[in-house]
Amino acid sequence: MLKEKIALVTGAGRGIGREIALTLAKNGATVIVNYNGSKASADEVVDEITKNGGSAEAIQCNVADFAESEEFVKAVLEKYKRVDILVNNAGITRDNLIMRMSEEDYDAVLDTNLKGTFNMMRHLSRSFIKQRSGKIINITSVSGVLGNAGQANYSASKAGVIGLTKSVARELASRGINVNAVAPGFIDTDMTKNMTDDAKKMVSEMIPMGKMGSAKDIADMVMFLASDSSNYITGQVICVDGGMAI
Ligand code: NAP
Repeated sequence: MLKEKIALVTGAGRGIGREIALTLAKNGATVIVNYNGSKASADEVVDEITKNGGSAEAIQCNVADFAESEEFVKAVLEKYKRVDILVNNAGITRDNLIMRMSEEDYDAVLDTNLKGTFNMMRHLSRSFIKQRSGKIINITSVSGVLGNAGQANYSASKAGVIGLTKSVARELASRGINVNAVAPGFIDTDMTKNMTDDAKKMVSEMIPMGKMGSAKDIADMVMFLASDSSNYITGQVICVDGGMAI
């Protein structure tokens, strides 16, 4: 379905990004597996893709850094000539109550989640516009839609990603480029594994479906948005959250 397509997935060595990379590759895309610190697991994702007959390459880049991400995009375009699918998945949390939240924790979360998404769209936009086609998929969060106590920095960054998505969707719509966001609810990954049983129970009670989601639930939605099935959809935020944001 994605044969001949080049996909770039940020933060694809672990968690949701890993599952997205594997799913896009299984559907025929050549995948650039971006990582920041997790080289070994990014290499393992590439191995799994190539073992199954697909094509992938792991490339290190801290997406929060404007100049570094510009070099990263330049190198990718030199080698692959185009990117058809950009998935901005890299993200971090540094949770705390607002009165205890440090400036460093606020800045780190905004830099990775919001500026990282801006950096990648900014550096790839010229190439997307030139080719007059493309799919940009930004991973936001139900916390960016509803807000979440203890996550002021994270919710602000993810609400910002929604604003970026809608604005860039309006800018690029006439050039044949779709820009959408996926808002996961609570998904079973490293990001949520340190939650206490009490916190997990409390969260489950907030989910109409009564259970956490899996990385596959998110990857399946990203696959839909990356495919031609989404050609008339842009600027949308699709919640994949077991009904949390109803
Ligand atoms: P995760 O398991 O903690 O993985 C985070 C990924 O982001 C890692 O691959 C990490 O790469 C990458 N990353 C972090 N900072 C980076 C940077 N500066 N440059 C490049 N990559 C960077 O988290 P996850 O649960 O898979 O989350 C993936 C996305 O889904 C995030 O945007 C997150 O906010 C969103 N989300 C998750 C949930 C959830 O419940 N899990 C809910 C809503 C939204 P390295 O290991 O190489 O540093």
